[in-house]
Amino acid sequence: MVKDLENARAVVTGASSGIGAGIARAFGEAGASVVVNYHSDQDGAEEVVKDIRSAGAEAVAVQADVSQPDDCAKLFEAAEKHFGGVDILISNAGIQQDAAFTELSLKDWQQVIDLNLTGQFLCAQEAVRRFRAQGHDPDRSPALGKIILMSSVHQAIPWAGHVNYASAKGGVKALMESLAQEVACEKIRVNAIAPGAIKTDINREAWEDKEGREEMLKLIPYGRIGETEDIARAAVWLASDASDYVIGTTLFVDGGMMLYPSFREGG
Ligand code: NAD
Repeated sequence: MVKDLENARAVVTGASSGIGAGIARAFGEAGASVVVNYHSDQDGAEEVVKDIRSAGAEAVAVQADVSQPDDCAKLFEAAEKHFGGVDILISNAGIQQDAAFTELSLKDWQQVIDLNLTGQFLCAQEAVRRFRAQGHDPDRSPALGKIILMSSVHQAIPWAGHVNYASAKGGVKALMESLAQEVACEKIRVNAIAPGAIKTDINREAWEDKEGREEMLKLIPYGRIGETEDIARAAVWLASDASDYVIGTTLFVDGGMMLYPSFREGG
């Protein structure tokens, strides 16, 4: 059986939990070798590595704070050392530090921008440099390399009490589209995935109790909260050559959240 990412080599940031862990596992199942980046949860990352190896693919866990340029470089050095190079970056790591606007400290503003936006810039920059240095091997893929940035429906939907997060994701949209425009001529495909509400640690407070889940479901026409596998399957397709002509696109994987469901009866 041909696997969708056979022979591909990927770096996945923030892959010790949630969406990143789901993508890393799905990549392994699809045949990719994966650098599983973690920030502080080494055990979580090693579990993901174990699962990928059980699926018959290669994986290595690498600690890095992706808001730091030298740490980003470390991830690509690991891909070079263990797999001989890199073909795919999934720039996924992100955090929330929520507060009402006038209560939001400069530190919490900066921490979210530094990771959720600057971290994606730094990893993408390193990926482009590595793709160029490696050169194109058409037998491996029609693309020189692929970059997927993790955005959010909040690149478009305003989010009171989360202005740092929404500003970062709005920035990710502009970063992704401008970079895609700049490097498409080199056969580097840059795209983004914008999840809706996916059950992970980042939003545990919102879905953990019944009341929170019911509130969340009012925003999701499809009637269920998303799972990490929903994003992982989309990421496998977007990173594979099946999506070779998809450039500069944000793929919303959100159960219809972007359809503004409250307008179904109102408006
Ligand atoms: P999560 O908290 O499980 O994952 C975030 C990951 O980022 C964690 O593994 C964490 O260790 C890692 N991380 C934190 N700081 C880091 C740093 N400095 N360097 C490297 N890694 C670091 O939550 P998640 O939901 O899986 O979030 C993953 C991405 O998906 C984020 O970018 C988030 O904004 C985005 N997203 C999530 C949802 C959702 O509903 N869960 C919706 C839209 C977008």
